Amino acid sequence: MQLASPDPDGLSSFVTFLLSLIQLLASNWKVFLLSSFLILSVTVFTRRAKQSKESSSLLVEGSPPHQKPLNGSDIPPVYHRPYSQISDRSTSKWSSQAQKDLIVKIAQKQDHRVKQPYDAFLVLDVEATCEEGAGFEWPNEIIEWPVCLMRWKDKSDQGKASQLEIVDEFRSFVKPTWRPQLSQFCTDLTGITQAQVDSAPTFQKVLKMFARFLASHGLIDPKSGRPIQRFCWCSDGPFDIRDFVVKQCFISKAPMPLWLKGNVLDVRRVVSVWAVASSNPDTTTKPSARSHIRSLNIPQQLQALGLPGFQGRLHSGIDDTRNIARVMTELARRGVRLEPKTSINPNRRWNWMGKPGEVLEHTLMFQ
Ligand code: AMP
Ligand code: MG
Ligand code: MG
Repeated sequence: MQLASPDPDGLSSFVTFLLSLIQLLASNWKVFLLSSFLILSVTVFTRRAKQSKESSSLLVEGSPPHQKPLNGSDIPPVYHRPYSQISDRSTSKWSSQAQKDLIVKIAQKQDHRVKQPYDAFLVLDVEATCEEGAGFEWPNEIIEWPVCLMRWKDKSDQGKASQLEIVDEFRSFVKPTWRPQLSQFCTDLTGITQAQVDSAPTFQKVLKMFARFLASHGLIDPKSGRPIQRFCWCSDGPFDIRDFVVKQCFISKAPMPLWLKGNVLDVRRVVSVWAVASSNPDTTTKPSARSHIRSLNIPQQLQALGLPGFQGRLHSGIDDTRNIARVMTELARRGVRLEPKTSINPNRRWNWMGKPGEVLEHTLMFQ
C-alpha cells in the first residue's frame, strides 16, 4: 500500500495564500488565530505523511515481491530478515525512536525458537529377544543397543533453539545370556541373526563401551560416570529404559549406571499429544480429552508431522532410532519444548525375578 504524499508546489502556494490572508486581516485577532491554527495543521500533516512514506518503503525493501509490507501483528511466518542486517543500517535512515522499536519488535517476533532446557539428546530404540505370543512381561534380553546423539545447531545465549541434528551414532549388538538362542520369530521381526549376537559383546561390556562414547563427547565424567552436560534419553514410548533396560540390568547383575537414571522423553507421547492438541487446543488442559489420545507408532508419528515415510527397516534398532531422531528434529523445528517427563523406576520388579540375575522359570506362563 502506498500513501499519497502532498504535492510540494500546491503546498507552497497554499502557504503563500495563508500568509497573504494573515497580512490582510492582521487587524482582526480572531482571524489571526484561525490562520495560525491552519498553518500548524498543514505543517503537522506534511511531516506525518513524509514519515509514513519513509517507514513503508523501509519495510517493503527486502521482502519477497508477492508479500505485503509488514504491519504489526500481520507478520509472515517464513520470511525472515536477520536482525543483524537491520541493525547494520545507517541510523540516519530512521526518523524516530518508535520506528527503531518497531523493527526490533518485528525481528524478535520472527524468531520462532523456544527456550530449550536440554543441550543433548540420546535417542535409543533397543531390540530384544522375544517369542511369539509371550507378551512384554517376559524376560526379554537386549540384543541391539543403537543410540543417536543429537545436539542443537542454533542454540542462542538465551537458550533458544529450533535446529536439532544427529552429531554421532553408537551401535552394538548384544549377546543374550539367559536364552542365547534367538527364536525365528525374533530374527524375522528384528532382522538380527544368530551369528550377529553370538559374536557380540555382553550387556556389561556394551555399557562400558557406551560409557566411553559418552565421555568422549563430554557428556559424562569418565571416572565417576556422572552427567556433566544437560542431556536426556529419548525413546518411542517408555518401554526401552523402563522395561528392557531394567530387566536387562537385573539379568546381567549390572547396577543401573548413573548416566541411565532419570526421567526419559517419551517421543511417542509428545507427538501423540501434539497431534491432538494441534487440532484441538483444549486437549492438553482437559483430563477427559487427554485419556483419548491415540498412541502413534513411528510411521504414524512421521505421518502426523507431515514427514516422508519411515526410512529403512521397521524393528531394526538403528533404523527405528534414526527415524525417532527425524521426529525429534521436526518437533524441535515446530517449536516443541523437548524435555523428559516420564519417570523411571530402576527397582521395578517382575514376578519371574528371583535373586539378582536369576530367572524363576517356573513362573513363566510362556516357556
Ligand atoms: P520395537 O522397538 O518396536 O522394534 O520393539 C522392541 C522389541 O519389542 C523387539 O525387539 C521385541 O523384543 C519386542 N517386540 C516388538 N514387537 C513385538 C511383538 N509383536 N511380539 C513380541 N515382541 C515384540
Ligand atoms: Mg522400540
Ligand atoms: Mg525397534
